[in-house]
Amino acid sequence: MTDERNLHCRVCGLEQASPPWGADGKTPTWEICACCGTEFGYQDATPKAVMRARTSWISRGYPWHEESARPAAWRLEDQIIHAQGLGR
Ligand SMILES: [Zn+2]
Repeated sequence: MTDERNLHCRVCGLEQASPPWGADGKTPTWEICACCGTEFGYQDATPKAVMRARTSWISRGYPWHEESARPAAWRLEDQIIHAQGLGR
């Protein structure tokens, strides 16, 4: 069963084309988030790692890994709400 939240990056909350951790939430794709640059299955593997990656990304001014993928009207506040509490 696919939970809607599974589509979002655990670190920055960006919605992905496919679930970063697979439909079962246990099978990471090892793809790179276009926003925060997290590799799914690596920097987001534990709640501690998620917090560390998020803190690091925000402290750097939340740059986009792929600047060309950034929407013109992008707002961190609208996106990050999807990330909070996702770390397990
Ligand atoms: Zn991300």
